[in-house]
Amino acid sequence: MNGLMQQHALLISTLLTHAERHHGDQEIVSRRVEGDVHRYTYRDLGERARRMANALAAHGISFGDRVATLAWNGYRHMELYYAVSGSGAVLHTLNPRLHPDQVVWIADHAEDQVLFFDLTFLPLIEAIAPRVKTIKAFVAMTDRTRMPSGSGVPNLLCYEDLIEAHAPDFAWPSFDENTASSLCYTSGTTGNPKGALYSHRSTVLHTYAAALPDALNCSARDVILPVVPMFHVNAWGLPYIACMVGAKLVFPGPWLDGKSLHDLFESEGVTVSAGVPTVWQGLLAYVEGNRKSFTTMRRTIIGGAACPPAMMSAFQDRYDVQVLHAWGMTELSPVGTVCTLKPKHQALDDDARRAIQAKQGRAVYGIDMKIVGEDGRELPHDGKASGELMVRGPWVISRYFKGEGGDPLVDGWFPTGDVSTIDPDGYMQITDRSKDVIKSGGEWIGSIDLENIAVAHPAVALAACIGTKHPKWDERPLLVVVKKPGADVTREELIASYEGKIAKWWTPDDVVFVDDIPLGATGKIQKNKLREMFKHHCLPTA
Ligand code: ADP
Repeated sequence: MNGLMQQHALLISTLLTHAERHHGDQEIVSRRVEGDVHRYTYRDLGERARRMANALAAHGISFGDRVATLAWNGYRHMELYYAVSGSGAVLHTLNPRLHPDQVVWIADHAEDQVLFFDLTFLPLIEAIAPRVKTIKAFVAMTDRTRMPSGSGVPNLLCYEDLIEAHAPDFAWPSFDENTASSLCYTSGTTGNPKGALYSHRSTVLHTYAAALPDALNCSARDVILPVVPMFHVNAWGLPYIACMVGAKLVFPGPWLDGKSLHDLFESEGVTVSAGVPTVWQGLLAYVEGNRKSFTTMRRTIIGGAACPPAMMSAFQDRYDVQVLHAWGMTELSPVGTVCTLKPKHQALDDDARRAIQAKQGRAVYGIDMKIVGEDGRELPHDGKASGELMVRGPWVISRYFKGEGGDPLVDGWFPTGDVSTIDPDGYMQITDRSKDVIKSGGEWIGSIDLENIAVAHPAVALAACIGTKHPKWDERPLLVVVKKPGADVTREELIASYEGKIAKWWTPDDVVFVDDIPLGATGKIQKNKLREMFKHHCLPTA
């Protein structure tokens, strides 16, 4: 017997319609590339998204076409999130931090038809425009007065002209919820980039789950500032979550330095933010160096790379900002686990509670996970056994776009390439990415633990641990360190700081000090580059 409930497709346009109807006067504030602060409401967003949907149709964009963006977090990008997907086309967010050759490769692979860009990226557009094969028009996300002249970019259109020229009456079409909605390529830290093609259904289900109190915990009472870029994995779903819950949204545009972010947090009353650890490092350095505090910030979601416990305690103990440690991947839309405590943990002392918070957290409903050994057999959830993390669920990819790389699943599970433990309470902890694991004498050394201890040292700004060749042990850990400005520490002091904190044989054999550690397009440490840089490094003989 079937239930007697209505059937409504889970479509991205319904999020916008909901926000417009029920939170119409809620604000969206954007620091713009133009330099000023722009304000409007969800009602305005809805109207302009519909105008843009008409403009897309008028320029021949039809169902399933890929529409690319190269843009910061801002209201025009938000309009495209809804106008493109809402009208049945596919929003393809390109990452402007990639090399132009990679941008060309990805745009061709995706067969993008139109590319919208923020003026910051005009030089990149000039470099790629003559080379891309399928893009028919480029749209500068600005008004007529700021349109670039003499750029040589062919078929260059003006965003505000398109908005002005088209009417706001547009009925969002209804279609199968399994229709593709947006496309994001993995940043290619592991070989050629591959596209994760999200659907309306996967996106709406992910939005429901990610908004929950034990996940990203967002409500109409929040003011959300996504630092995490809208050009990578849909800013962890926050542009959709904000519409679902009716929260005020604040977009930082290109200004992601500590001072700019802190000013915006304070002036707009931001309560929750989200980003990778390297961004928070800049913010904390600014707040510490200028004796500032957070007046309204209550929570920050930290993910994309392991959040060092030292960063967690700075936020929580010094500034009373709760850290939500989260884990996810492009292939997971991206939220998989978030670390929030259970009632029984309230009785624990600070150290024990912090040890739990350092974990990547519990699976949100919808994500099922397990760990397997090298033979593929499932390992116990005892917090000790570590193996490859496998996931499945309605917002996990089933294949990559155009079937690249073949069938990625193993018995229906997606192998994440992360190595982790899962404890009896369901808390997952990443010890490494399988390709970053250091193999010493046939045993694994987890680089994340070693890095966390290094960055807890007051003189260390950034640290990465990699394996380097060793004649006897195969590989041994080498610690690469960037010191804080004006601070000093020696190799011996750093090595001594590991004493008693880890198994002795895990202690790094050597430390090198560098001015910079290479970061990838999503702000993560590029260990493959470091391994290349130090492949001939001579470890001191014991
Ligand atoms: P890529 O960097 O390859 O593009 P993603 O941006 O999708 O991939 O990042 C996914 C990877 O980032 C995960 O597989 C994991 O290795 C790492 N990651 C994400 N969140 C965390 C976290 N909280 N702790 C440790 N690693 C994380």
